[in-house]
Amino acid sequence: MGGRLLGKRAFVTAAAKGIGRAVAVAFAAEGAEVIATDIDERSLAEIAGGRITPRRLDVLDASAIACIGEETGPIDVLVNCAGYVHQNTIETCTEDDWDFAFDLNVRSAFRVTKTFLPGMLEKGGGSIIVISSAASSIKGAPNRFVYATTKAALLGFVKSIATDYVRRGIRANAICPGTIDTPSLADRMAANAAEAGGVEAARAAFVARQAMGRLGRPEEIAALAVYLASDESAFLTGQAIVIDGGWTL
Ligand code: NAD
Repeated sequence: MGGRLLGKRAFVTAAAKGIGRAVAVAFAAEGAEVIATDIDERSLAEIAGGRITPRRLDVLDASAIACIGEETGPIDVLVNCAGYVHQNTIETCTEDDWDFAFDLNVRSAFRVTKTFLPGMLEKGGGSIIVISSAASSIKGAPNRFVYATTKAALLGFVKSIATDYVRRGIRANAICPGTIDTPSLADRMAANAAEAGGVEAARAAFVARQAMGRLGRPEEIAALAVYLASDESAFLTGQAIVIDGGWTL
């Protein structure tokens, strides 16, 4: 176990699977006390114990966010990971898709961050991390209309917070991954299988996007989150950090 996050309390949303889970596990391995939240309590239970405390949180539920904020108290690190990857174009995106995407991908980060910011300010500092995407204002990706729009909004979100609180010890940064091998990616491969000519062909298309010729691993994203959460990155704020195996080269 490393000790880069010793003494820190961290709160992670969507921590039951994929990137959020890898972040929670990596934070705990580096010595942080981690409140790992998700709607999938069964998967969350698999990482419970040691320094990881599992809690149910639906980030779409404003009163549940307020309650868990009260229960948790002050934290040092917040990771807004919850998000859903809609596959659509402006033509196929419905009003409901738009609302759901903004509620889950953006409004949730607004609510959760607003809940924990006062405690961070009282403590004299904190690191806020959002999981955005390379598919955002950084790069267009086919069939990612509302998704990329929400992920671009998150970049404005961190820039604004970083600017407003730069003299008060708060740092805010966005991680912008390329294609990462997670359960939600498997769902997208299955959804694209018919059009691509099978699941393997759909997978190959996702792999081919990365210049490195492979998918990213959730642990590789978690390693960057550890750095952003730790004091090693104390001079770094307001940035959108792309980690994408060369997709945007
Ligand atoms: P995943 O499907 O592996 O995990 C998503 C988790 O979110 C699940 O545990 C699920 O239960 C939870 N969740 C869903 N709705 C929730 C809600 N309302 N409240 C709380 N938790 C909820 O997903 P992932 O691929 O690891 O993605 C995590 C984040 O990373 C997302 O914001 C996604 O947009 C972003 N991202 C993923 C990739 C990728 O290729 N996988 C690339 C770039 C960015």
